[in-house]
Amino acid sequence: MSTATELIHSIPVDPLTGAISVPIYQTSTFVQEAPGVNKGYDYARTGNPTRATLEQLIAQLEKGTVGVAFSSGLAAIDAIVKLLKTGDEILAVDDIYGGAFRLFTQVYEKFGIKVTYVDCSDVNNLVDAITPNTKLIWLETPTNPTLKIADIEAIASLAKTHHCLLCVDNTFASPVLQQPLALGADIVIHSATKYLGGHSDLIAGLVVTKDADLGARIKYLQNACGAILAPFDSWLVIRGIETLHLRIRQHCNSALRIARYLTQHPAVDKVFYPGLPTHPNHEVAQKQSSGFGGIISFTLKEDTEEAAVRLVTQTRLFKLAESLGGIKSLVSHPANMTHKSIPAAKRRAAGVQDSLIRLSIGLEEPEDLINDLEQTFQLISEQTQTSVSAA
Ligand SMILES: *Cc1c(COP(=O)(O)O)cnc(C)c1O
Repeated sequence: MSTATELIHSIPVDPLTGAISVPIYQTSTFVQEAPGVNKGYDYARTGNPTRATLEQLIAQLEKGTVGVAFSSGLAAIDAIVKLLKTGDEILAVDDIYGGAFRLFTQVYEKFGIKVTYVDCSDVNNLVDAITPNTKLIWLETPTNPTLKIADIEAIASLAKTHHCLLCVDNTFASPVLQQPLALGADIVIHSATKYLGGHSDLIAGLVVTKDADLGARIKYLQNACGAILAPFDSWLVIRGIETLHLRIRQHCNSALRIARYLTQHPAVDKVFYPGLPTHPNHEVAQKQSSGFGGIISFTLKEDTEEAAVRLVTQTRLFKLAESLGGIKSLVSHPANMTHKSIPAAKRRAAGVQDSLIRLSIGLEEPEDLINDLEQTFQLISEQTQTSVSAA
């Protein structure tokens, strides 16, 4: 059976009523027959049937054993950091999601957790940076927003040798394209806010572990710290996952066409998309994932913030917004938006140039998106010509 068919039929029909859609159990507590005698649920922070369905579904999609649903992607990341103790070190990807960087440095450094950032597209950088105190390797692949690719299998074997956990933030790829646990990772996290939800209408985070005991520790933290996903939002993520395969296929097809269009545009300097044969890690991307995703970044020949801002404020179909993975295409300027909390020098060193623009390719017809970009480039070129002749 194909994974799409398997996925659709693994979403259970309600055994009580036959409802084909998963019921939303909007309740805080569950009536007990006698103290401690219940039907598997006692209090809804600890467990809720709607959330439990989502947790089983994501565990299955990621080929893991335990799924845990949190109120945001950052709450999911936070739970993983809480597995560590003072003196432990994290070895993290350098162009990490800005919010994860902020959490690591602003919240956890003061508890004595040290974080070292390296470019993970070359495994030798990790070999050089790993220490006996490294307890967690933190990967994003593709990265945000420069779409670098890390070799999950090679880094997983390094993690094994050094007895540390490997966690992969699989938000950009989604389990349809890439399954890090099958490649040797211990933990996968998602901002389900993005592709899994898929409709830009919720905030959610998911964790999946390969090992059941590790999963139980994270479930314990979910209950102990309390950042659970609500029943209605759990239902929305399930509903999103139902069409994930179709959506991802279209995101990938459109993104490849638009990336090709951008590479030949005279105003564009570099295009970052793992599906282009010119991408430095194209072969690794091809080896470990079944598609290249819906995110494209590019820089302009005129590498200034002003030039980037002119572009991102004048597209019509591409809406200027943070986030990604929804049905509507979005454009963003990371230096001023998602990556603003990273110091400028550090940001540039990680390849996030001043003119870098990130596109999240939605589900519109790709021709319409290309026309939108083409018209915006023309508009900008006319505006700069006018301002030059006015001067
Ligand atoms: C958005 C995002 C997060 C954070 O998730 P929230 O749901 O916004 O808390 C983490 N990692 C990546 C790669 C993201 O894009």
